[in-house]
Amino acid sequence: MDAIPSHKSFDNVKAQNVGGAANHVAPDCAGQNFYAIDRGLRDLLQLYLEPNDFRRLQPHFDRLGVLAGGRLDELARVADKHPPVLNARDRFGRDEDWIDYHWSYREMEQIAFGDFQFHAMSHRPGTLGMDRPLPAVAKYALQYLFVQAEFGLMCPISVTDTSIHLVRKFASAELKDYLLPKMLSGEIATMWKGTQFMTERAGGSDVGALETTARCEDGEWRLYGDKWFCSHADADVALLLARPEGAAAGTRGLALFALPRRLKDGRRNAYRIVRLKDKLGTRSMASGEILLEGAVAYLVGDAERGLKQMMEQVNLSRLSHGVRAAAMMRRCVNEALVCARSRVAFGKTIIEYPLLRRQLLKIIVPTEQALSMFLFTADAMDRANAGSRQAESLLRILTALVKFRACRDNIPVATGAMEVRGGNGYIEEWVHARLIRDAHVGVLWEGTSNINALDIVTRAVGKSRAHRTLEVELTKLLDRATPIPAAFRDRLRLALDRTLVFAERVAAEPALEESARQVASSLYHIASAILMMWEAAQPGADARRALYARFVLEHRLTAQDPLQPRYGEWEREAAEFVFSERQVLLAEIAGLLS
Ligand SMILES: Cc1cc2nc3c(=O)[nH]c(=O)nc-3n(C[C@H](O)[C@H](O)[C@H](O)COP(=O)(O)OP(=O)(O)OC[C@H]3O[C@@H](n4cnc5c(N)ncnc54)[C@H](O)[C@@H]3O)c2cc1C
Repeated sequence: MDAIPSHKSFDNVKAQNVGGAANHVAPDCAGQNFYAIDRGLRDLLQLYLEPNDFRRLQPHFDRLGVLAGGRLDELARVADKHPPVLNARDRFGRDEDWIDYHWSYREMEQIAFGDFQFHAMSHRPGTLGMDRPLPAVAKYALQYLFVQAEFGLMCPISVTDTSIHLVRKFASAELKDYLLPKMLSGEIATMWKGTQFMTERAGGSDVGALETTARCEDGEWRLYGDKWFCSHADADVALLLARPEGAAAGTRGLALFALPRRLKDGRRNAYRIVRLKDKLGTRSMASGEILLEGAVAYLVGDAERGLKQMMEQVNLSRLSHGVRAAAMMRRCVNEALVCARSRVAFGKTIIEYPLLRRQLLKIIVPTEQALSMFLFTADAMDRANAGSRQAESLLRILTALVKFRACRDNIPVATGAMEVRGGNGYIEEWVHARLIRDAHVGVLWEGTSNINALDIVTRAVGKSRAHRTLEVELTKLLDRATPIPAAFRDRLRLALDRTLVFAERVAAEPALEESARQVASSLYHIASAILMMWEAAQPGADARRALYARFVLEHRLTAQDPLQPRYGEWEREAAEFVFSERQVLLAEIAGLLS
């Protein structure tokens, strides 16, 4: 193993940050604590976590913040340049494929599965010293910190977590006894990691077109087919959809199966990883194509409710994708600010230029929206898990909104941050190229933007009426945020009313389908604006979040004339507060909220 000792890696980190005035090259964020520098995250965690939980978990947030800005970031950089390699056969000619991973990826796995035990933290006590499973808010906050350094591995981590959820919820007692002790283990050498294979050549979006068949042979299920996109291709157990012979066509005939990589006697199960994909991003992680050649699988839950059951995993993944987008955007903000405060052009640091401030705001505001939205969604998940039907309905629509909009915003934010760094941002030694490459997959997996938007309009709004639950929750926040000037809250309330009417109209009229994305975006924008306004009203909070709310209101929810200047005088004043490095008080900015 060509492991580079850790002290050598850190020498590199320090060397990178000798940039600045001395040699004109702006530094990057290497060596920073990504938790300590994230005021928004720290404030919001105190808002959503029980004080005891926050106290117990804070050292872990802090430790992961240090790792994400240090060792993990260094490992991620190396792993990105050494993608996994598939070995189709061994030297004896046996088709027993395996994948070689670089040592840097293995060390990241040890941090994720061994040290933090991300996969198990929602399912059993004992992770991070907690005497019960972690709240969803804490789990997603930890994912958010981790992904600021490494995106690729979060797929295997999350999909192991969500596979455990499906097994716990739907599998028979016997199957649970077989799988769960292995999947919940924190011993990296022996644990079973999970994944999810759904997509085939015939369909990613059109799941009903799947062609994989399940045959019952000698009392056991065997699978035949070709899975076209299999991330974490060598996982120990995959949850997948297949059609039992004779079952109905379309989505109704799909059943959910658990496919182990090894059989109970230790032999390899009858499927092969045919090849790995050469991908734009997520390069540290292996995505492959898999041929099922009579592989043994176990039916999970009700054979006629396969897709419905699988959608629970999909929805959990969708929230994690929103969190990952938020995380990558945060990394972009951190990088852009560090650079803008240091780089000098025409005799001034570039952050002093109004046009560059505008560019930075376009990076910062979507990032803060995503942070507020994913924590609110995770909180809804915690309340839903505690039995609240209202929170379940809220979770339904929020998950879809976060996946849709945060993943879309991640792309221009990543490009914007690169541009702030100038030409260096385009060079692979810096993190920006990886951030740009990784950002794009968010609009593909677990549903493309169109599929996400249609889900929001037709199902979450049209069928479940979950937008009305959202309205109830947001109205409560508007009513409670009394320190915020009433005129601003009234403007937000009006925008909320108009958004809901628009959403209902589009949901009711099939001819308006082209507006589905517009509806999804508007719902996200108004929800995030009200959230940020409410967060700014909390005692001791940093009030700049209310300014972010106003930016969203003006630029995303208010008509604009393309032939008039878009930016008002208030924005220049607001930017002074946004870019100041101290806490902003509500009294100072109240005049900017009208
Ligand atoms: C790196 C990577 C890893 C992946 N890993 C996995 C994995 O582990 N497991 C897994 O199951 N899948 C995985 N996927 C597959 C991914 O989920 C699918 O690619 C995605 O769902 C889109 O499906 P598709 O590729 O078949 O595109 P299509 O469904 O053919 O879509 C093509 C285009 O048509 C549009 N479209 C389709 N239907 C409609 C409609 N009704 N209205 C409007 N527009 C529509 C889509 O929005 C899209 O723009 C992965 C993909 C990538 C890129």
